[in-house]
Amino acid sequence: MSVRVVARIRPLLKLELDKDSIVTAAPAGNETIGSPTVVRIPNPKNEAEHFSFQFNSVYDQEATQQDIYDHEVAPTVKHLFNGFDTTIFAYGVTGTGKTHTMRGGKSLADRGVIPRLLSSIYRRSRKIEKDSGGSTQVEVAMSYYEIYCDRVYDLFEPPDKRTPSGLPIRDNNGKTVVVGLTERPCTTLKEFEQLYDQANVNRSTSATKLNAHSSRSHAILCVKVTQTTETHTRISTASAIDLAGSEDNRRTENVKDRMVESASINKSLFVLAQCVEAISRKQSRIPYRESKMTRILSLGQNNGLTLMILNLAPVRSYHLDTLSSLNFANRTK
Ligand code: ADP
Ligand code: MG
Repeated sequence: MSVRVVARIRPLLKLELDKDSIVTAAPAGNETIGSPTVVRIPNPKNEAEHFSFQFNSVYDQEATQQDIYDHEVAPTVKHLFNGFDTTIFAYGVTGTGKTHTMRGGKSLADRGVIPRLLSSIYRRSRKIEKDSGGSTQVEVAMSYYEIYCDRVYDLFEPPDKRTPSGLPIRDNNGKTVVVGLTERPCTTLKEFEQLYDQANVNRSTSATKLNAHSSRSHAILCVKVTQTTETHTRISTASAIDLAGSEDNRRTENVKDRMVESASINKSLFVLAQCVEAISRKQSRIPYRESKMTRILSLGQNNGLTLMILNLAPVRSYHLDTLSSLNFANRTK
């Protein structure tokens, strides 16, 4: 069981080009060369002073989608095929690059972690099948859902067909399952992408209806890999989660619905931080049952690997939110 927490600082966007970057990546200690592992940010109360936060790795403005994939995600694929679960989270304030990191853009270079991961899973599946002379078969299936106000919604279901109370979850042979969640087999990358795009439309449609709903919900993609030989079956799951925006809810307008949203986002992110902290400290008790998301993911069970990518925007308008993100990630170590 292990966890890595890494930070990614996005570049300035077109609209921000006249602004300064106040968040920088630096190597640890007194070293001036080597890969950065520290994020530096001014103290908002005294800008002559800087705070430093240490991570397993830090990616700056120059880092490409391929860099993130090659260094952080590609090494987890082997683990997945050895039968263990892998879980990748993107954490951060709305507008810092979570969706860019996970899903990315349309061009090959812009593709995010998810399509690259799937591409690698298919490549490895074909190789395993070929090397076994056909005696091992690998099947890939996906489910995709969001958790909004502590309710689970299937993203294969159009928003107008959803049950407002969401799908129930139940314990089944020690595993927590979402009852009635669609699982779609997908045998090629193309098939996966079609299903994934289709489901993402359901996410963004509800976004316009429910007022920027998508930044208030956790989007959870689960890719189940089943390897079958003559004698046994091995199942493992890769999960990729685009978390709800972590902005400080005390400073956003907190009325009625927003209040309920904020309370459930705060609680689920709080439990997530506690779980990641417990895993990284190798504690035997991981409080994964205390929120719906960590419970469904069985976070930290089954020898799973967890990767948390902390997305950061470099500009001053995010200063306080960036600090609270960094503090959040800091307590997970
Ligand atoms: P979030 O999902 O955290 O709200 P987005 O992924 O939507 O944030 O990113 C906000 C904007 O910043 C988008 O226009 C996105 O294309 C851009 N962006 C984010 N990260 C990068 C990056 N590393 N390189 C270039 N553009 C980025
Ligand atoms: Mg997003």
